[in-house]
Amino acid sequence: MIRCFIGLGANLDEPIAQITIALRALAALPDTRLLRCSSLYGSKPLGPQDQPDYVNAVAELETTLEPLKLLDALQHQEREQGRIKRRHWGERCIDLDLLLYGDQTMRSERLNIPHHEMHKRSFVLLPLCEIADDLYLPDGRAITGLTPEFSGDLQRIGPPPVIG
Ligand code: AMP
Repeated sequence: MIRCFIGLGANLDEPIAQITIALRALAALPDTRLLRCSSLYGSKPLGPQDQPDYVNAVAELETTLEPLKLLDALQHQEREQGRIKRRHWGERCIDLDLLLYGDQTMRSERLNIPHHEMHKRSFVLLPLCEIADDLYLPDGRAITGLTPEFSGDLQRIGPPPVIG
């Protein structure tokens, strides 16, 4: 089993419910176990400012799905939840990013692991540190030693959603 981390974000159509639905779907993936989810965090948008604030969380999985199969599953779930691409860094009812896949590094048009912006974003790093402060990036940097460039006024807004 490979230890993976998924970033979840939502700012439309009852974001907390959207995150909960996505977590249930992650828990139901074949050959996969949902190990834990962080608290819920609220943050200001990274892109256009004329959109609602985001709810973010990070989930930890164990899986034997290959990285591209896992990405397929994440994108399938985004479509299931009615995600429509409106504009770059724009509003969405769910965003699922594959942040880390074991200690693997991948660079391709479809999939970059580690997710290329994760080390810059507080809405990824704080939830990640909450559930996995022992984590290192494949390049050897400790997750707890990273300083985000984007703060987004991140605040903890609630406990991890209850799944199952
Ligand atoms: P986004 O707007 O964040 O949902 O970006 C989606 C696009 O990023 C898709 O075309 C994916 O193929 C691509 N992508 C590259 N690396 C990743 C990753 N680690 N997790 C999710 N999507 C990724």
